[in-house]
Amino acid sequence: MKYITEPSKRLELKHEYDVIAVGGGIAGVAAALAAKRAGAERVLLIEKMFGLGGLATLGLVTIYLPICDGMGRQVSFGLAEELLKLSMKHGIESRNPVHWLSDYSASERASAERYQVQYNAAVYTILLEQKLREEGIDILYGTSVCEVSVENDKINALIVENKSGRYALGVKSVVDCSGDADICKFAGEETALYSEKNVLAAWYYATKDGVYTLKQLGYAEKEKSDRAEGEEVKTLVRERFTGVDGEEISHMMELSHEQTLIDFLQKGDISDNHALATISSIPQLRMTRRIKGVLDLDINDDKVYKETSIGMISNWRKRGPVYEVPFETLYGKKIKNLITAGRCMSAADNMWEISRVIPCCAVTGEAAGAAAAMSDDFAALSVEKLQNHLVKNGVVLHWDDLMDVK
Ligand SMILES: Cc1cc2nc3c(=O)[nH]c(=O)nc-3n(C[C@H](O)[C@H](O)[C@H](O)COP(=O)(O)OP(=O)(O)OC[C@H]3O[C@@H](n4cnc5c(N)ncnc54)[C@H](O)[C@@H]3O)c2cc1C
Repeated sequence: MKYITEPSKRLELKHEYDVIAVGGGIAGVAAALAAKRAGAERVLLIEKMFGLGGLATLGLVTIYLPICDGMGRQVSFGLAEELLKLSMKHGIESRNPVHWLSDYSASERASAERYQVQYNAAVYTILLEQKLREEGIDILYGTSVCEVSVENDKINALIVENKSGRYALGVKSVVDCSGDADICKFAGEETALYSEKNVLAAWYYATKDGVYTLKQLGYAEKEKSDRAEGEEVKTLVRERFTGVDGEEISHMMELSHEQTLIDFLQKGDISDNHALATISSIPQLRMTRRIKGVLDLDINDDKVYKETSIGMISNWRKRGPVYEVPFETLYGKKIKNLITAGRCMSAADNMWEISRVIPCCAVTGEAAGAAAAMSDDFAALSVEKLQNHLVKNGVVLHWDDLMDVK
């Protein structure tokens, strides 16, 4: 292998922030809102694309999966519910959760549509941006965080690149919401890769005879434990993708575009009543790199009491299971002022498939953002203080506490 040395240069320290959330997906949006609401004065959200929502909008993954357990009980509250309702503000595409928006009993809800919704991606991305602006959060689009500066086990600056070139942003606490634990990797925090790698996905929108439809090409795989002996997994292509190699991701996007066109043309060429409406502008990767946190979220912990819970999530695949999310799944052992949220939090491989979805990104984003406003040393933060704050903001922490919720 050949190497060249990058010319070292002094970088301008352009601004200083109390909290920076990196990545404008649902986790980053929730983290920024929560940090501001918990009292951080200067909060910045950095996003390398030019719109908020990440996979949930730019990635055309437009189903806000359930915030209920499928047995008639809501389990995720706070920003998870607020952001779901925001996605419905100007109407929805489908999966109307009517039983959850007016008075129905738990048994009626148990046999109805779960508390989930399919929204319009373009409207939602604008609404998310407006929400952040209303609450005084700075947004920096078209900007990639490409390096960090670490001193005494704390990140003191993020190195960013955008149209202005390369410069530094000073920071007290960082929330890694990049989906791929980029900041953890740059800072030398311990990370892990998804062992099975990603199958190719190509979700897109088309219109046919006036109907605007989401095409879910490349569905999530069944969990290993749910597959029959020797059951073949049907995939669009044989290749699998780690999602952390630039050239590999670029190649994956080409394959995804190719499959989209093949699928679209099966219904014929473009005509007055047939159009390829939208394709994803970001790679549709599910599980890539995550932090190796102090604790892993574990699939065997269905309804297990967790003293340090920061909220609950359900299982989108089956009705019944509920998981309390321990605070220690959000931060690692090395970098004191770095916390994660969303699909790069710490979860065992078999749980990652459950914890990566939109509601969990909102639950963990809210806790990580609030924690970042309160501390620059997460292992030393009083979890009780964080929990009291979350409860004041409507979060329910434990399965047992649900018995008090109507
Ligand atoms: C094909 C597919 C189908 C899915 N289906 C569903 C579904 O039906 N319902 C559901 O709830 N979930 C679904 N998911 C999962 C879910 O959409 C995502 O896991 C979730 O939205 C992730 O949110 P996030 O905020 O953690 O990360 P992301 O949405 O990935 O957001 C990360 C953001 O960070 C930005 N970023 C990354 N690196 C940097 C950097 N270095 N500097 C600056 N910005 C950076 C990215 O551009 C991106 O906007 C699906 C996922 C896929 C791929």
